[in-house]
Amino acid sequence: MSDRHVRAYLGLGANLGDAGRTLTEAVVAIAALPDTDLRAVSSLYATAPVGFTDQPEFRNAVVALDAPRGADLVGGALALLARLKEIERAFGRRSGRRWGPRELDLDLLVFGRARISVERPAAGRSNDAESDSARATKLLVVPHPAASSRLFVLAPLADLAPGLVPPGWGQTVETARRRQGVREGPDTVRAIGRWDPDVGGWRPT
Ligand code: ATP
Ligand code: CA
Ligand code: CA
Repeated sequence: MSDRHVRAYLGLGANLGDAGRTLTEAVVAIAALPDTDLRAVSSLYATAPVGFTDQPEFRNAVVALDAPRGADLVGGALALLARLKEIERAFGRRSGRRWGPRELDLDLLVFGRARISVERPAAGRSNDAESDSARATKLLVVPHPAASSRLFVLAPLADLAPGLVPPGWGQTVETARRRQGVREGPDTVRAIGRWDPDVGGWRPT
């Protein structure tokens, strides 16, 4: 797209209901965002839960898109985050604890070369603020601070951008994926589908 746009990477996750179907529909919703161009979709992964391990397996994926830069990068990233939260709510996500089961989780992983850390204003509470008093006080941190230590993010991100060095990482996505793969072992993250753009969905592999 134009220089009014910036390449962003989003992390998608779900583990309630038909999670694979939810992620397919979430990709459609993301592709329909105004002034935004969906560029690529990773494979679909079945992943072991992190945090509270006594919950269903997750489905995870990453998408690349070109999104409006905004008046400045912080404004553009906050606008995209607001859109992602709207989509989460539209898919029924209302409450639940952090790292707990959820219908849909959309995280802004990377927003071009931006390094962002914005405090939460009083009005800008997360969907889940009431149910967890220990929630993060940061409204937005980009690159997503946990992305480099989560294989369920690194594996799909490496499908799309193995050579990317996100701002502040000091290593490529592929190097981080390989290192985290050694730490987590071979069983936490399995590719189960390949995105078929003609169908607009993942085909089982
Ligand atoms: P994690 O952030 O560790 O993946 P989570 O996705 O379960 O945890 P949520 O409850 O979805 O956490 O989000 C909590 C808050 O995190 C959101 O309301 C949002 O304001 C904030 N946040 C900070 N940085 C980001 C980011 N890069 N992408 C999405 N949300 C973010
Ligand atoms: Ca998350
Ligand atoms: Ca989230």
